[in-house]
Amino acid sequence: MSVFGVYGVKDAAQTVYFGLHALQHRGQEGAGLATFEPDGSCLHHRGLGLAGEVLSQSELARHHGTIAIGSTKYANAAQSGLDNVQPLFFRHKSGDFAIAGEGKLINSDQLYDYLENRGCIFHTGTDSEILANLIKKESAGKRIDYLIRALNMMEGGFTFVIMTRNRIYACRDKYGIHPLAIARLGEGYVISSETCAFDLTGASFIRDVEPGEIVCIDDNGIRSNLYSHFQKHKVCAMEYIYIARPDSDIDGCNVHAFRKESGRRLALECPCPDADIVVGVPDSGLSAAFGYAEQSGIPYEMGLVKNRYVARTFIQPSQAMRERGVQMKLSAVRSIVGGKKLVLVDDSIVRGTTCLKIVKLLRNAGAREVHVRIASPMMTYPCYYGVDTPTRKELLSSKRSLEESCKAIEADSLGYLSREATVASAAGCSELCLACFGGGYPTALYKHETEE
Ligand code: AMP
Ligand code: SF4
Repeated sequence: MSVFGVYGVKDAAQTVYFGLHALQHRGQEGAGLATFEPDGSCLHHRGLGLAGEVLSQSELARHHGTIAIGSTKYANAAQSGLDNVQPLFFRHKSGDFAIAGEGKLINSDQLYDYLENRGCIFHTGTDSEILANLIKKESAGKRIDYLIRALNMMEGGFTFVIMTRNRIYACRDKYGIHPLAIARLGEGYVISSETCAFDLTGASFIRDVEPGEIVCIDDNGIRSNLYSHFQKHKVCAMEYIYIARPDSDIDGCNVHAFRKESGRRLALECPCPDADIVVGVPDSGLSAAFGYAEQSGIPYEMGLVKNRYVARTFIQPSQAMRERGVQMKLSAVRSIVGGKKLVLVDDSIVRGTTCLKIVKLLRNAGAREVHVRIASPMMTYPCYYGVDTPTRKELLSSKRSLEESCKAIEADSLGYLSREATVASAAGCSELCLACFGGGYPTALYKHETEE
């Protein structure tokens, strides 16, 4: 999922369109846009599909406001369909507002109970609706004060952009699990889940939103409020490993540089002597494969090519679609891999479906040996902060030894990067959340604690 916001920019909707286009890799199930128009009304439009399909030029032409927010949504079984596409729009006597959010609250069940017991009725499964209801519950005082109180009731990994008629609030959870950054565009401002969207919109990066911070943007410029004095950087390691685009910087650390360094360290920790070539899995394994090749001195070769017109496989909701997706997405290059002992580098293994398919593809194309090297540690726990990983029992390595995992993906050998080397690849950046790679969740887990 992604969030994007624009303040004080002519034709803000057009800028949202470009922003969401650059953030498309964070979700392809749906996209949405909301603008406050010069007459004070809120125009919002959401749809299923890619941002370019949902936000047609004719739709964009209806929007004339200089303030807008938008979002893209990925497909997950629990909250699919148009109802859950954001931004959501809310009416309130203190002023209408729209919210787009990403990530996941870990205490949403407790907050549903709390709010439903006070008469709230929910239409969606989104955390944005929980936030809106926490805000709406309060009727006195300044909006920033009740936003601070609401955010203090929310635990998890989240970012929100909240748009009122004359202001945007950008909020990041107190661990900074998911990224959020601000940039300058002309006289106005842009807020984005990832910095890669700034280039396309012509905006210049100012800074990241800090953990526990609410950045308020209006005609007076930018103001910062901390909603919590508890602040601890625990940036999602999977953002660096897989989710974010390589040209994005998260908390001052470039994603490609992280991945390349992790590949270099992988070559040191899990060497593959006498291999003929290194092959990276497009796209998210490529940066690590370059690092592996550079460090090991084994030549990099393009043994796999990608069909550019297929969306990311994981984002397809069902297993059947996912399995078909791998074959639609990748082909092995017979003339390159035939007869070779190769090192196959990928960013991560979740269920193992993708990796098994790729190993088979390479063998069918004549590869002699396939040695799999993964530029992240064994994934053994689910994520509760909005990264759509499956339950423990579906994770390839949660209950299997390294040898058993290797057998399951039919590789000649398998090696994972250590947690220590993953942390070291982010040297100079913020501290990482690595909970899905062996535990250590930064927040309390509520009911999830007992889950096996
Ligand atoms: P699989 O092991 O078949 O479940 O898929 C793993 C592949 O999907 C990895 O190589 C990544 O490129 C990608 N991936 C890893 N983690 C995730 C995630 N949380 N969401 C979506 N895709 C992922
Ligand atoms: Fe990211 Fe894993 Fe932490 Fe979830 S548990 S936030 S996927 S590192």
